[in-house]
Amino acid sequence: MHHFHSTNGILHAEGVPLPRLAAEVGTPTYVYSRATFERHYRVIDQALAGVEHTVCYSVKANPNLAVLQLLASLGSGFDIVSVGELRRVLLAGGDPRKIVFSGVGKRDDEIAAALSVGIYCLNVESAEELARTEAVARRLGTRAPIALRVNPEVDAQTHAYISTGLKTSKFGVTMAEARDLYRRAAASPHLRVVGVDSHIGSQILQLDPMIEAVARVLDLVELLRAEGIPFESLDIGGGLGIAYRDEPTVSPFEWGPTVADLARRHGLHLLTEPGRVIAGNAGLLLTRVLGTKRNDSKSFVIVDAAMNDLIRPALYSAHHSLVPVLEAPDRRIAKVDVVGPVCESGDFLARDRDLPELRTGELIAVLGCGAYGQSMASNYNSRTRAAEVMVHGDTHTVVRARETLDDLWRGEAMLQPQALWAESDA
Ligand SMILES: *Cc1c(COP(=O)(O)O)cnc(C)c1O
Repeated sequence: MHHFHSTNGILHAEGVPLPRLAAEVGTPTYVYSRATFERHYRVIDQALAGVEHTVCYSVKANPNLAVLQLLASLGSGFDIVSVGELRRVLLAGGDPRKIVFSGVGKRDDEIAAALSVGIYCLNVESAEELARTEAVARRLGTRAPIALRVNPEVDAQTHAYISTGLKTSKFGVTMAEARDLYRRAAASPHLRVVGVDSHIGSQILQLDPMIEAVARVLDLVELLRAEGIPFESLDIGGGLGIAYRDEPTVSPFEWGPTVADLARRHGLHLLTEPGRVIAGNAGLLLTRVLGTKRNDSKSFVIVDAAMNDLIRPALYSAHHSLVPVLEAPDRRIAKVDVVGPVCESGDFLARDRDLPELRTGELIAVLGCGAYGQSMASNYNSRTRAAEVMVHGDTHTVVRARETLDDLWRGEAMLQPQALWAESDA
């Protein structure tokens, strides 16, 4: 579900025609729909209505301050993975008591920052991290609320790079290790066990692995409760997949009541960390055709967005639908590679794709770019990062200005000229 539709042959974001945005803000630009963000948040929230719960939006999917502010205003909590994300959430008005802190490599200063603002819970991912968390809490004279991220050894059947619940994964601790660590944590005056956490992967398109993971984690909870260790919450992570073309996805209304029921029967507050399912289809990348070329075997459409703007096709072989902003029903269909200007063969948005013949200067929308789009962008090839725009009805706000050339070398310094001369003289 999203709010990007064609009206009178022109693709719009809600009530705003995309050519207007391109004229005012330029390209490439990430365009977000506020109504779509709101709708997705509400669907997840309502799907879990059967149990006391907190939706902790996964900030890394799309960390723009306006996105965080919008979700905070709807009551969302947040799943963070760094002190940078913590500061963003607080700046955007997020409630620290609804923050969970995940990640396999938290520094002591990050743990301290999270404890001092009073976040709900640290999702601890190793024995060493548990000991360090305890030490930081002791130093601060406090008690750190923790959950262990356990690895339920369930195959999420998604891309290897975003599959996190297997034995070979760097994430989480094994079920056996979790038992020992929970006993240690429960005995510490500087740790407070609040719950248990697992996250088995991203872009998951099947319900069964998700339910299987929850069931295994609940067995662990009951085993430890029998030893007198209390649990108040169950964090089932994120991972719900979205349709990038027309693949079948798990309906939130199939997933939600099932997990809500499991949590309620075990008397647990349910936490979930959705990223992609909220942000993914709430954004598109607006780009302009710079030119076309052919060689003996292929046709290329060269656009002004590149892998530095959207790395998903190169990194995950991801598919994004491409739509000409101006509908052209009579155009011939041609098989093309849509590529960016970056000096890498991996710099493509689509390969061997059947598309209406595209002309130099026209606009294309790359759909499904609201999650892991701008958040994974870089300055590779000294390209300025794209602008971001939030549309609301027939108005829009630039929620991140396009970077300027000066932004590219901010913080860089040149050597003293004398030092260079001295060396070349020698
Ligand atoms: C990335 C991540 C998420 C969000 O995953 P989505 O697939 O975007 O829902 C949630 N929790 C953790 C720990 C993550 O690393």
